[in-house]
Amino acid sequence: MHARFEIMTSRHNEVRDITSRVQEILRGSGVKEGVCSVYVPHATAAVIINENADPNINSDLLDALTKAVPEHGGYLHDRIDGNATAHIKAAIIGPSEIIPVSGGELALGAWQDVMLCEFDGPRRRQVIVTIIPDTHR
Ligand code: ZN
Repeated sequence: MHARFEIMTSRHNEVRDITSRVQEILRGSGVKEGVCSVYVPHATAAVIINENADPNINSDLLDALTKAVPEHGGYLHDRIDGNATAHIKAAIIGPSEIIPVSGGELALGAWQDVMLCEFDGPRRRQVIVTIIPDTHR
C-alpha cells in the first residue's frame, strides 16, 4: 500500500525527522513483516537514515555538503533557476530509503531515524510511503 503526507520545510537547507509520520502509516497498514520504502518525488530534496539524538549531526551534514557542493559554483543549471547546488546535493544523497519491517515496527537501530533533507526550501514537500508485506512466510 501507498500513503503520502506533506511537510512544509522552513529553511533553505534543513533536515527534518519524519520517523513518527512513517511509523503512523506503517501501524495503520497492519503489516507485520515486509519492507517500507520512504520516497520524495522531488529533484531538490532527499531522504536519509541517521542519528537525530544530537542535532549537530544534521548541521554537520548540511555543512559538509555545502563545502563539497558550494552555492553558485559556476554550474550550468544556475543559468536556468539558480539551484544547481540543491539538485547535486539531492542526487548525491538520493530520494529514498528502504527499511525492513519486523514485528510491525520499522527495524531501525537505537540511534537511527528517518529524515527528509531539504536543499531548496522553504517548500511544501510530499513524502510517499510504500509498505510491501512479505508474502513468502
Ligand atoms: Zn533547478
